[in-house]
Amino acid sequence: MIRDVLVRDVGPRDGIQSLPLPAVALDVKQRLVEGLAAAGLARIEAGSFVSPRAVPQMADSAALFERPLDSSVEALVVNERGAKAAADAGAQVLVGVVAVSDAFSHRNVGQSTAEAIAELERIASVARDRAIPVTVDLATAFGCAYTGRVSPADVARVAAAVAEFGVEEITLADTIGAAAPNDITDVVEVVRDRVGGDIAVGLHLHDTRGLGLANVCAGLDAGVRRFDASVGGLGGCPFSPGATGNICTEDVVHLLEAMGFGTGVDLDALLAVSAALEADLGITLPSHLLRAGPRFRAARPTPADGTGAPSR
Ligand code: ZN
Repeated sequence: MIRDVLVRDVGPRDGIQSLPLPAVALDVKQRLVEGLAAAGLARIEAGSFVSPRAVPQMADSAALFERPLDSSVEALVVNERGAKAAADAGAQVLVGVVAVSDAFSHRNVGQSTAEAIAELERIASVARDRAIPVTVDLATAFGCAYTGRVSPADVARVAAAVAEFGVEEITLADTIGAAAPNDITDVVEVVRDRVGGDIAVGLHLHDTRGLGLANVCAGLDAGVRRFDASVGGLGGCPFSPGATGNICTEDVVHLLEAMGFGTGVDLDALLAVSAALEADLGITLPSHLLRAGPRFRAARPTPADGTGAPSR
């Protein structure tokens, strides 16, 4: 199958992490990760190795890395200890996070941006020792809940600093869903200019203000071919007030395929995973496709059909 665009599903980590307690059962998470892999999601952010007191929903992450899957099963880490634990557990990629905004960084990981960059160097060195790739998410790349606008020059400066550590990929994260398509164009361009062509640039978008898919299109125009998304649109960020909802994986896959980009994802299988997750969690997910289905499929008749009520 041709894969023009890589979609990384972050639902099992970014999504489940933001759910209120009680913790989601391990077997629900395992079914989710395995379902996503079987649906053709080549990359899955399955869990994180951080303080279980800070993020209790991720306390059992290690178990999610035990079973070998065809997909790259990836772990978010914020320090050297977490990086070693993730590598021991079998994580295939270490995902580091550096927030461009100092104020957010302090609240998110209790460190300044500079301290987080220094920590990332230690994480990258663990990754090198264990021969695991490391990728970095730059949080608040398009705005911060505490300080407002974030300048593209600051994003480029932080990107250049982390690029020194041998990272394979830098993902620009719109943590609070503040980006408009023109911001995507601007920030992707300055970061690319700064880090050069050897490091892939991806986008992690939130649909907080309904701009998620418009921003995917802007990213595609800017040449981005890697997008984070969350099955069912599950998620947010518990440390960023109002940051609801990652863009929804099935909505993104549907959009990409409609535009002629291969994703390698079996959309029907993915929709079944999303529906099963709704049932397991007992919640309604903000997925458009789960409600409407893929376009151009025969609609089932509804009770309203044939009443003559015109619609448009
Ligand atoms: Zn997110």
